[in-house]
Amino acid sequence: MHKISALLIAAMLVGSMSMYAQTERKCGSMEVLEQQLAADPDMANRMEAIERHTEQYMESGNHEHDRVVVTIPVVFHIIHNGDAVGTNENISDALIQAQLNQLNLDFRKLNSDASLIPSVFAGVAADAEVQFCLAQRTPSGAATTGINRLNQGQASWTMNQIESSLKPSTIWDRNKYLNLWTVIFGGGDAGTLGYAQFPGGSASTDGVVLLYSSVGSVASPNPAGGAYGKGRTATHEVGHWLNLRHIWGDATCGNDQVSDTPTHNTANYGCPAYPHYSTCTGSPVEMTMNYMDYTDDACMYMFTTGQKGRMQALFAAGGSRAGLATSDGCTAPGGGGGGTTCAIPSGLNATAITQTSATLNWGAVSGAGSYNVRARQVGTTTWSTGTATTTSSNFTGLTCNTSYEFQVEAVCSGGTSGFSASATFTTSSCTTPTCTDTFEANNSKSAAKNIPLNTLSTALISTSTDVDWYKFTLTSTQNNIRVTMSNLPFDYDFKLYRNNTLLATAQNGGTTNEVVIRNNTSTGTSNVYYIQVYGYNGAFSATQCYNLLVETSATAFRTGAETASAMELEPASFDVYPNPVTGIANIHLTPGANDEMVTISVYDVTGRMVMSQSRLNSKETSDVVLDMSQLSNGMYIIRLESSEAVLSRKVMLSK
Ligand SMILES: [Zn+2]
Repeated sequence: MHKISALLIAAMLVGSMSMYAQTERKCGSMEVLEQQLAADPDMANRMEAIERHTEQYMESGNHEHDRVVVTIPVVFHIIHNGDAVGTNENISDALIQAQLNQLNLDFRKLNSDASLIPSVFAGVAADAEVQFCLAQRTPSGAATTGINRLNQGQASWTMNQIESSLKPSTIWDRNKYLNLWTVIFGGGDAGTLGYAQFPGGSASTDGVVLLYSSVGSVASPNPAGGAYGKGRTATHEVGHWLNLRHIWGDATCGNDQVSDTPTHNTANYGCPAYPHYSTCTGSPVEMTMNYMDYTDDACMYMFTTGQKGRMQALFAAGGSRAGLATSDGCTAPGGGGGGTTCAIPSGLNATAITQTSATLNWGAVSGAGSYNVRARQVGTTTWSTGTATTTSSNFTGLTCNTSYEFQVEAVCSGGTSGFSASATFTTSSCTTPTCTDTFEANNSKSAAKNIPLNTLSTALISTSTDVDWYKFTLTSTQNNIRVTMSNLPFDYDFKLYRNNTLLATAQNGGTTNEVVIRNNTSTGTSNVYYIQVYGYNGAFSATQCYNLLVETSATAFRTGAETASAMELEPASFDVYPNPVTGIANIHLTPGANDEMVTISVYDVTGRMVMSQSRLNSKETSDVVLDMSQLSNGMYIIRLESSEAVLSRKVMLSK
């Protein structure tokens, strides 16, 4: 009898103690979801639409790349019953700050216990790229600390009371803030650690509710929280609020809508030894350290890339929580206060623009400790936001050939400057071929690379001093060549050499194609041809390739696309006689300072080249005979091209 009584008393003690000390994690999110779905017939449709949007976002793969971190303003509604600040459920500012810190560590994968992630899961452990700040302004624009202490004259709360009256009467605009209420759960809900409303729920009840004793951090645990005092209940519940399901899918071997988490039998409690194998299909090792399991605070420390994708989908264009990304909730009203205010940043520009990224730059502002940056596609309403401690920021995950705008504000001790006007830029063209530039390094003649003949090659002039050298040789039968340089991002030119002799300089203005034709040229391995490509006046593009094509033929190239548009009439330095030409044109070349190759071409009045040949112009006078007897009568232009100049003469052919 005595023994039995003692056991009964012990059982009663344990029972009464459980009113105060948490013995097992209990999350009310699914229970509330079921009630909301039953009460609101349209909610299932809204959640289904969010799921479809999430699937599309996941298929885009954007979540796998670095994005601008989303910063969410948070208001803590501390619900109490008249207790002094820092006692019982009226928890201290220090604990609230510790909780905020833990959220920022966990959602950025900066938590110290991330080092415990088993190697088998390391590849999927993700920085969710979401961070949190304490609200600096209320919905009406007044200054706030983000801590809203409310004496509601009630010691404890059931979830029904919270949903029906507490939340609707105290909530701040859910499109600007994450509302976080801390309470003592009572009645049938005593023992609940917290719960969240999923995306798609009512605007009057959106947010997260936490047991006051769960508010803390790994570094500064809540002394009343036991195994659940390190702030991970908030991480778990904010995970729900950002559309994450329990990792076991709330069913035996259920589906959590995430592809990179293993199938769990059911919830795990406490601190399971690793590896803990599932008995579901495939017997995977369960990810008991995921924030969306039910393990102790000290034993959960990771989100996955798939979970990050579900969360980030909410902030993408059209996402149900996209408004939070542009909230001014963390910007203090006005510039007043005791600290230093600072000027609005200026000198915004974007550099290193590629198809998918850009570097955003601005001028330093005196007194600024950091900068807030926001950017978006021109014509859209949702900003991606981030912070920087330097005067530049990388903006990634962009779409090619698309205009973006960005703004910057300075953050000083007295507040923020307000955002600057927008600077805009456009990402690189989508049609640009991927250029691997396999010819580098080829920056000198001695480092010239063999260029394949009759094959389009692509390459980059990647800096203002970059020069590309190529070389090739000809077989005896393929002694006619045409060199074409096209798809020029800027004004690029090239020179063609045979051994040490400059044969031609192609220097059309702007992005006009460059073409050089040489017929009946010297062949064999002792005649090495070189092409030197360079940007005029240091022009270059690190992202857009140019095309270079060397064509060879057994027959002469006669109808190239080269035009005479760049020709200029120069003072006499070659003579053509007789003029009019009766069939044979004699060309008398003025001697040059050095022996060099010159090209003599004949163009008709439409700019089409009808004849072309190259000659060595020696230091002695030399003459060239052009047989024009096969051409029709009319006006022609004879062009002489050397490394120094392009000279032209009009002649009349009258046979
Ligand atoms: Zn939960």
